[in-house]
Amino acid sequence: MSIAQNIAEIQKKIDLTKVKLVAVTKNHSTSAMLEALASGITAVGENRVQEMLAKHPEIQSAGKLAEWHLIGHLQTNKVRQAVPLADLIHSVDSERLAIEIDKVAGKLGKRQDVLLQVNIADEDSKSGVAVGQALPLANLISQLEHVRLCGLMTIAPFSENPETVRPVFNEMYQLFSELNTIKLANTEITWLSMGMTNDYMVAIEEGSNLVRIGTGIFGSRQY
Ligand SMILES: *Cc1c(COP(=O)(O)O)cnc(C)c1O
Repeated sequence: MSIAQNIAEIQKKIDLTKVKLVAVTKNHSTSAMLEALASGITAVGENRVQEMLAKHPEIQSAGKLAEWHLIGHLQTNKVRQAVPLADLIHSVDSERLAIEIDKVAGKLGKRQDVLLQVNIADEDSKSGVAVGQALPLANLISQLEHVRLCGLMTIAPFSENPETVRPVFNEMYQLFSELNTIKLANTEITWLSMGMTNDYMVAIEEGSNLVRIGTGIFGSRQY
C-alpha cells in the first residue's frame, strides 16, 4: 500500500478530532515525508536532532508547513540545536535537561512546549523518569519561565500482543489525570502521547490523545 493509503486507513480507525496523529519519519526520506504531508499529515516526529536539522530546510524549501516533534532521547548538548526547530519535545526526563531547554529557549525569546517522558514499565533500556518522580519533576518544570509543560509521553514495552500492555497505558492515564488534578501553574496539560504502530488502538482506548506512528505509515525502516 502507498503512504497515502496507509494514512487513509489509520484515519478511518481513529477520531482525528480527539487524537493527534504524528507521523514518525525517522530513517525515512524527505520525499516520503512530503508524500505524507500531502496526504493529510500535519505533524512529523523525529528521533534524532541531527536528522531533524538535515530534513527541516528541505521540507521548508518544498513549501510544506509541518509541526516538528522531537520524540527521541535528547542530550543536553543537543538542546541548542533542537529548540529553534522543535514545536514539541516529548522526551524531557531530567531537571538538568529542562533547565538547559529553559536557558536556550529564553535566549531565543521562545517558550518551549515539552512533554515529560515516563518510563512507565521501569525498563532499563528506556529513558524517562520513574513513575514516582514524574509529579516532582513536573512541579520543577512548571517553575521554568521559558518551558511550558504540555503533558506526558511514554513508550510501552514491545509486545506482539498489544493487550498485554493495556495496564501500562492505563497506569499512564491515571498519572495524566493526577497531573491534571494538581493544576500546576504555568502549565497547559493537554497531551498524553502514547501508542505506536503496534499498540495505538489499545493506547487510545486507554486515554491517549496523541499517537506516534512510523511503520504503519511508511513501512519498515532501513537502518
Ligand atoms: C520509532 C518511534 C515511534 C514509531 O514506531 P513505529 O512502531 O514505527 O510506529 C514512536 N515513538 C518513538 C519514541 C519512536 O522512537
